[in-house]
Amino acid sequence: MARMIERDPSCEDDFDTASLSCDEALERILGVLTTVEGRERLHLRAALGRVLAETVTSPVDVPQHTNSAMDGYAVAVADLPKQGTATLTVIGSAFAGRPFDGALTRGTCVRIMTGAAMPDGSDTIVMQEHAVRTGDHITIDSDHKLGQHVRAAGEDLRRGQRVLERGHVIGAAELGLIASLGIGEVMVYRRVRVAYFSTGDELRSIGEPLGRGEIYDSNRYTLFAMLQRAGAEIIDMGVVRDRREAVEQALREAANIADVVISSGGVSVGEADYIKEVFGAIGAVGFWKVAMRPGRPLAFGTLGRAHFFGLPGNPVSVMVTFVLFVLPALHKLAGGGQQLALEITARTTAELKKRPGRVEYQRGILSHGADGKLEVTPTGDQGSGILHSMSVADCFIVLPLASGRVAPGSEVVVQPFRGVL
Ligand code: AMP
Ligand code: MG
Repeated sequence: MARMIERDPSCEDDFDTASLSCDEALERILGVLTTVEGRERLHLRAALGRVLAETVTSPVDVPQHTNSAMDGYAVAVADLPKQGTATLTVIGSAFAGRPFDGALTRGTCVRIMTGAAMPDGSDTIVMQEHAVRTGDHITIDSDHKLGQHVRAAGEDLRRGQRVLERGHVIGAAELGLIASLGIGEVMVYRRVRVAYFSTGDELRSIGEPLGRGEIYDSNRYTLFAMLQRAGAEIIDMGVVRDRREAVEQALREAANIADVVISSGGVSVGEADYIKEVFGAIGAVGFWKVAMRPGRPLAFGTLGRAHFFGLPGNPVSVMVTFVLFVLPALHKLAGGGQQLALEITARTTAELKKRPGRVEYQRGILSHGADGKLEVTPTGDQGSGILHSMSVADCFIVLPLASGRVAPGSEVVVQPFRGVL
């Protein structure tokens, strides 16, 4: 049974007892999703952004050989003076990738560069700055410790050690890490297949002239971008007109070819809005209203074997609901663990208009105030049709359900999205 929003009724507020809270909606979505089943073995570079479907263990010690962490001289502890100074004979050099071919004997040392394997018989590095060189000899003082500036074999990773777990997303560090183990291929989950379309008689494609009341379809572009970033395999199904049969056909077709179906528009209760009605007839509706702004009408459920998200039509609502619900869903389907939404606090420089009853995701711009503290400035008109606000903004200002207007200077919660969207 859904937890409904508790409230004191008022004709002034935005409360709607049929709406789910954002948290509940996300919980319900994640509750029905399981990771896709297919896997594939990919070359390392091709695996960037994908989710590991196997545990990566180290086949080697990293580093493989005990080596120097500094440019200097490799010495034996027995030759370090307890007091005063000692003079040692330099018997050769060791470079990274070109080891010294011999062993230290009493009273000798080897010139060594960072990353070079420690010569046999040596155990300590004296930095070059701490040695006085004259010809083939160096003089060192007593201020040195056994094992200093030495990187032990296996100190980063030991052979057989679990390095990355299944479900780990492969980013830059992971690519490097896997390469450092000498592994060239990894098993990853297949991409999540997402089919998406726009709905609306008013939508025109780029290149077509606009008639009265018509607009260009932008949602398919923002969705393309967000899906691409999310690493999905995307199937663009174009624009579907506001007719019951057309909507039904598009939904059925999409559900047959994709893991996830996303529509935008037509999800409210207007006379040309068929998504909810058709979805109700041919799918299993999980919920269709969330107590948030923008984006209250938001349908979720299953459609055949696919998961369906009926996003609102307004361009900002599409982006906000995508970030809040579709992105975590895709991440889970793709095999990844739950990702933490980064939340920080900042002081608002301006008043934030709001009425209690819904969580609001307003658009803001982060900056540093005169005192060095983080500040956020709303982007102005917060209408859900103003896509421009999303390109000006670099964060959402998240105002809780019960909150009313917020006075300038108040601390608010902010979710940065630069680099994410
Ligand atoms: P709807 O929910 O279908 O009534 O759409 C809500 C608002 O979003 C309307 O003003 C639509 O014109 C607009 N809208 C719907 N789909 C798109 C789209 N693909 N691109 C841009 N705006 C859209
Ligand atoms: Mg519409």
